[in-house]
Amino acid sequence: MRFLTKFFNTQLAIDLGTVNTLIYAPGRGIVLNEPSAIAIHKYTGETLAVGAEAFKMLGREAHDAEVHRPIRGGTINNFDADEKMLTAFIRRALGGTHRRSYMVIGVPGSSTPLERRSVRGAARDAKATEVDLVDEGLAAALGAGLPFEDERAHLVVDVGGGTTNIAIIASGTVVASSSLPVAGNALDEAIRDYVRSRYEMSIGERTAEHVKKELGALSRGRCGQEGARCIEVVGKRITDGLAKAVRISSDEVREAIEPVLAEIVAGVRRAIEDSKPDTTADIYQSGIILTGGGALLDGMAERLQKELQLHVAVPEDPLAAVALGAGKLLANPKHLERVAISEDVPVWQDTEELVVNW
Ligand code: ADP
Ligand code: MG
Repeated sequence: MRFLTKFFNTQLAIDLGTVNTLIYAPGRGIVLNEPSAIAIHKYTGETLAVGAEAFKMLGREAHDAEVHRPIRGGTINNFDADEKMLTAFIRRALGGTHRRSYMVIGVPGSSTPLERRSVRGAARDAKATEVDLVDEGLAAALGAGLPFEDERAHLVVDVGGGTTNIAIIASGTVVASSSLPVAGNALDEAIRDYVRSRYEMSIGERTAEHVKKELGALSRGRCGQEGARCIEVVGKRITDGLAKAVRISSDEVREAIEPVLAEIVAGVRRAIEDSKPDTTADIYQSGIILTGGGALLDGMAERLQKELQLHVAVPEDPLAAVALGAGKLLANPKHLERVAISEDVPVWQDTEELVVNW
């Protein structure tokens, strides 16, 4: 079936992330890059806004609107919202009507059959004629520039929003994959917790993310010291609910997110420890490919490199690696056929006739 892809008049490669959704179209490149968010009318179910527009409403939505981030922890947690979001994104990416469409979607290697079925279902409901799923870790490695046929094992660490996905790739196949429930969102949460306990002030999700992106995880001294990096953060004083502003330094952010970083490093270390001796030897030579938005955190690559004593390579655009890699697969149906995750059909649907043996 897959070798018929040329008969589809539109083809898309989709990275359905917890934080960002990217769509790649052959010949056109990345055609959509939006936050995975949708605003839905509470009572009518009508879609009010999707992507960046919906994300802007987060934390300040109108009383009758609800902003959903339908992908949590790397899987769909709100099927209805996800399907609506995907439909809107696909429509936007195609920019008009389309009849026969073929879509390749990246899913975490550690996703369950049920989770994969829900992704396929959402894509079909969003009018995809044919859907193939591929392992995100493999797609990220290809997107980062790893040649498909490279037979040496490579370790791919994708630090996204909800999950950190760790995969070992060799010769275009996934040797092992695991997933940690800590990534970018957990870093934001750690910053919120720190500000709450240290300054008795609560800050919003988006403010915490901004602080993380601006200050990162490198030590540069406290506010007032030479070379220190500090920014002003505005939130709500817990005692009386009024607005309050404080200056916070990169050293404080580093301290706040330390436990989360340690957990990510420990997860990567475990993946290496669990691999076979030859694989470990390959990884020692080839190092780590670091992708996902977390790769952009100041200090993340350095931290992994230092603690694991492995070379860490970050592609030019780590946020787009999965979509670009899935796009490369679209261009090569033979490779795609080799790596596409087959559909999980329940055993009872596979049998033609129910035979009862008493
Ligand atoms: P997902 O695949 O789960 O949607 P992404 O790979 O798109 O996730 O990465 C999103 C995460 O990356 C978010 O937590 C975001 O805060 C983080 N991120 C993006 N840019 C930066 C940056 N410059 N510094 C630190 N973190 C960043
Ligand atoms: Mg991702």
